[in-house]
Amino acid sequence: TEVLDFEPYAAGLSIEEIRERYGLESVIKLASNENPLGVAPLVQKRLKTAAGLAFRYPKPDTPRLRKAIACRMGVDQSRVVAGNGSDEIIDILIRVRAVPGRDNVLAFKPCFSMYKIQSKFLGVEFRQVPVEADFTYDLDKLAERVDENTALVFVTSPDNPSGFAPKAAELEAFARSLPPACLFVVDEAYMDFAEPEEAYSIRNLLDELDNLVILRTFSKAYGLAGMRLGYGLMHPDLADYLMRVRLPFSVNILAEEAGIAAIEDTCFYEATLQAVRSGRERLAAELTAMGCVPKPTQANFLMFTLPEACSLSAKDVFEKLLERGIIIRPLGSYGLPDSLRVSIGNEHENHAFLRGLREVLEEAR
Ligand code: PMP
Repeated sequence: TEVLDFEPYAAGLSIEEIRERYGLESVIKLASNENPLGVAPLVQKRLKTAAGLAFRYPKPDTPRLRKAIACRMGVDQSRVVAGNGSDEIIDILIRVRAVPGRDNVLAFKPCFSMYKIQSKFLGVEFRQVPVEADFTYDLDKLAERVDENTALVFVTSPDNPSGFAPKAAELEAFARSLPPACLFVVDEAYMDFAEPEEAYSIRNLLDELDNLVILRTFSKAYGLAGMRLGYGLMHPDLADYLMRVRLPFSVNILAEEAGIAAIEDTCFYEATLQAVRSGRERLAAELTAMGCVPKPTQANFLMFTLPEACSLSAKDVFEKLLERGIIIRPLGSYGLPDSLRVSIGNEHENHAFLRGLREVLEEAR
C-alpha cells in the first residue's frame, strides 16, 4: 500500500498520441525542454559504429565518458559521477546522505518533482520554502529552514519551471553559510543556456567547498534526452561513496559513446545555444506583443501567463493548441494553474507556436 501512494512519473504527451487523437499530419512538441536542433551529427555517426558493441557489457565506472566530462568541465575525473540521467544522481545522493526518519531534504516550492519523489520514496522528510511572488529566490528564507538534520539542500538554477537564475554571488554567500555536513546540490540542468554562464554558475567553487555538488545533464543542450545521461560534480570522497552504491551498468554502452561524441561536437553545441538564445528573445518579444506576460528566463523554455482580458483558462489554451498539433506544458502539476511553459524550439516550431497561440487568443475575443 505504501507503493500505491506513488503515481508513475507523468511525462508530457507524445507526438504520436496527439497525431492519432486529432488525425493530424504534423505535430510539434515544445513541452519537455528538449534540444531544438535534435541529435548532434557526430553523435549520429558514432552511434552507427557503436551499435555493433551493444552485445558487450559497458565498463561499470564509465571511465572514458568521465574523463571527457572532466576535461570539458575543468575538474579532476575523481569528482565526476555519471548516471542514467541526472535523475539517477539525485536518487543516489539522497540515498547516500540522508538517514530515513531522522534527516530532511530542503528545496524551494515549486521545484523539479524528482527531489520530492525520491525523498518520499526513501522515507526522508521533504521541506519546501515558497519562491517569491515574482519567482525569484529568497535564499535567506531557505537558510532559515536549515537545521542540524538537513542533509541536502537542492537549488535549481536556472529554475524549472520559471527560468529564473540567482546570481553566482548570492548562491556563493548561501553556500558558505551552510553547515559543512549539509550538501548543497545546485541542479544546473539548464545552465548551458544562461547568458553568460559565469554570472550564474558556482562550479568554480568545487575545489573550495567540500559540500558543493553540481548536477548537469546531457538531455538538454547536448540533445540526448532519450539516451538518459547526466552527471554530478562533487568532492572525490563523496563521488567514491556514490560509485559504491550506484547500479554498475546504469550508463549503457551507447549512451557513453553518445555522450563523448556530444562533447566533441562543439559546433552543434554552439549552434544549440545560439538557437535557444535568439529563439527565447523572439518568443518573449512576440508573447509580450500579444499581451501575454513571459517571465525572464535563462533556460531553454519560457513560462508565461495569458493576457488579463483573455476569457480562456491556461488549460483551455493548452487544449486548443493541442487540437492544432502544438504540445506545450500546462503547469497545474507545479501548483501554477494560470501559467504555461513552452520550450524554445527551432525557427519553424517557434513560428508555428506563435501563430497557433495568436489564433487561439483571437478566437476567444
Ligand atoms: N533537473 C531538472 C531541473 C530538470 O528539469 C530535469 C529534466 N526535466 C532533470 C533534472 C532531469 O534530467 P535528466 O534527463 O538528466 O534525468
